[in-house]
Amino acid sequence: MKKAFLQYLRSLSQSGVADLPTGNDETASQLEKSMAATREFLNSRPAESTVTSVPSAETGMAQTTGALDSTPPMQPVMAEEESVRSPAVGSSDQGTSASSPNNASSNQASSSQTLTKPDRLKILADEVGNCFACPELVSNRTQTVFGVGDPQARLCFMGEAPGADEDVQGEPFVGAAGQLLDRIIAACRMKREDVYILNTLKCRPPNNRNPTDEECANCRPFLNQQLEIIQPEYICCLGGIAAKHLLESPLSVGRLRGKVHLYNGIKVVVTYHPAYLLRNPDAKRQVWNDMKFLMAEMGHDIT
Ligand code: URA
Ligand code: URA
Repeated sequence: MKKAFLQYLRSLSQSGVADLPTGNDETASQLEKSMAATREFLNSRPAESTVTSVPSAETGMAQTTGALDSTPPMQPVMAEEESVRSPAVGSSDQGTSASSPNNASSNQASSSQTLTKPDRLKILADEVGNCFACPELVSNRTQTVFGVGDPQARLCFMGEAPGADEDVQGEPFVGAAGQLLDRIIAACRMKREDVYILNTLKCRPPNNRNPTDEECANCRPFLNQQLEIIQPEYICCLGGIAAKHLLESPLSVGRLRGKVHLYNGIKVVVTYHPAYLLRNPDAKRQVWNDMKFLMAEMGHDIT
């Protein structure tokens, strides 16, 4: 495989094709690694959750045969500002009730000049931990799940809400869906520590039910402030709940993917949720196309 690849590169460069990688051993081994990470994601089987059992439909995992990228790449679409713009990031214009997160970081505004991003995130995380806005969530949670990753990250992955594993560990995406997300990140030639991972909702809904609109609205100021502190260049919405609430769009994931949307100047792409992939492994191919699209937008080479 490596030999064939090197020969291929040399034959191309001999025929005068410009801007090729040099075709040295390092290039070849990088390519092999990256293809291995891609296969790892596309062929992976979910690991057992430490808390809950994994959803049932895992038996028919995607069979990938032939070329890694047999589906046609999608065309980048320029940002569509008109339909998807959301209210300003920040808390001042969010109308919520007295016990809500809305009052949270008035104390941050004045100190935001001097505090570092990690400091500001820590203060906000403490405020999230002291939020009692949604009684049903409060009475069922082990703890709140704020977010994890590099506060300077260019890219944020945004999920739905903590599940059982996340509720116990206090970190987003650590269960079966999280392990699949890790594989997606690895296939993009990044590490979990390179990105920031957060959820629409900071508390686990009982029995993993969908978050209600009211719960998402209650939690929204926290999300806004979190994004305002991190200031990522890109957000990847995982699944319909994240997309619906961030972009305030009623459209399905299928309709929203393949485009760059804008949220307050941040470029947003939408793809299927890893938990959906656990039940529908065939959709991994589409997610991989979405990731290639996103990496190309970011100028991040994943070949
Ligand atoms: N699903 C999510 O949306 N978020 C998590 O943190 C875990 C599973
Ligand atoms: N619908 C969703 O809400 N999320 C997915 O990931 C797929 C379908």
